[in-house]
Amino acid sequence: MINASLIEKTRSGSAIRAMFEEGKRLASLYGTEYVYDFSLGNPSVPAPDSVKTALADIVENTEPLALHGYMSNAGYESTRKAVADDLNRRFGTAFSAGNVIMTVGAAGGLNVILRTLLNPGDEVIVFAPFFLEYGNYVENYGGVLKIVDTGEDFLPDSEALYNAISGRTKAVIINNPNNPTGAVYDEACIKRLAEALDRRGRELGESIYLISDEPYRELCYDGAEVPFLTKYYRNTIVSYSWSKSLSLPGERIGYLLIPSECDEASLIYDAAVIANRILGFVNAPALQQRLVERCLGEETDLEYYDYNRKALYKGLTDIGFECVYPRGAFYLWMKSPEKDDRAFCERAKKYNILLVPGSGFKRSGYVRLAYCVDHAMIMRSLDAFKKLFTEYDNYGKRN
Ligand code: PLP
Repeated sequence: MINASLIEKTRSGSAIRAMFEEGKRLASLYGTEYVYDFSLGNPSVPAPDSVKTALADIVENTEPLALHGYMSNAGYESTRKAVADDLNRRFGTAFSAGNVIMTVGAAGGLNVILRTLLNPGDEVIVFAPFFLEYGNYVENYGGVLKIVDTGEDFLPDSEALYNAISGRTKAVIINNPNNPTGAVYDEACIKRLAEALDRRGRELGESIYLISDEPYRELCYDGAEVPFLTKYYRNTIVSYSWSKSLSLPGERIGYLLIPSECDEASLIYDAAVIANRILGFVNAPALQQRLVERCLGEETDLEYYDYNRKALYKGLTDIGFECVYPRGAFYLWMKSPEKDDRAFCERAKKYNILLVPGSGFKRSGYVRLAYCVDHAMIMRSLDAFKKLFTEYDNYGKRN
């Protein structure tokens, strides 16, 4: 028999992937024009032109053996140095290449750091709703996921965090800007979290690591700013990727930042380099490392996402849906008109609208819409949403 937990996962599946597959099925029946697929966080803005130019130049002008060969498991020294310099310039920090490990996207980085930090039975705290893969990644290394709910503002609560930390807590993962809520945790919120972690860590005499998962760092609107966490809490490890910021999700490129002031920083760094190798990643993709080194400072077309964000929020709230005003990432978090968010998503499918149920992110009563889509599709979808909403008007609220 194969691995029992994976057999179980083949049965439960992923809500996001299931909706994505359903979208393809509906499109083959009704035509792409008539399907409103808000399921997947796949960037709808192409990579900047400079990415294409840099790629061509790298392929053309790098000696072939150097271009495709293995390198240090941490990644190219020049790429790691360029990443550190870029962070120092942007955030006034003092990192060096020796703080950076190039990874296979944020997913690869999270797996590397969890493999590095966790012994079986160690606890990892996450705030609901959250990116569901965290549970799988923690389970990969025998860790135990501890879920702390957020309130109506979807911001993590420092007292709830303090109370959830036990002698087995090894790490806390936060994701800012947030998938699925679109919330941005501001400086006051981060300071409260840092203070709770510091206080509890000292009481327990344990190092509690804060893993900051930041694939959406640059996707912020209305002037919202994402604090750089290493400045607020010593034991912070950052996991970043260019999947969203440069629209490169299929290329699998990111990094882990392990600041020298972390407890046992050099041991963590050396162990994480080994984890990168023995998890089978070996190293981050060579070509993509050279590419991001050249494209640091390049930006995605944020205005396009902003245009979508405003249109979708206005369109849905004008109809009568209750939505959380999104300040970051490219997700809209909407209250389901009936308690059972899965039932609501099923009803939405009747109108060819594909949404992801909030219970898939461990918060029922809500749904997630990814607005990294074609703007015209958003505008076309509003009529379908109107019809969907009318069902609830006619039937009375189901709550
Ligand atoms: N973390 C969050 C919160 C995400 O939403 C995603 C992808 O959607 C990832 C991590 C994984 O990112 P990557 O494609 O860089 O592995």
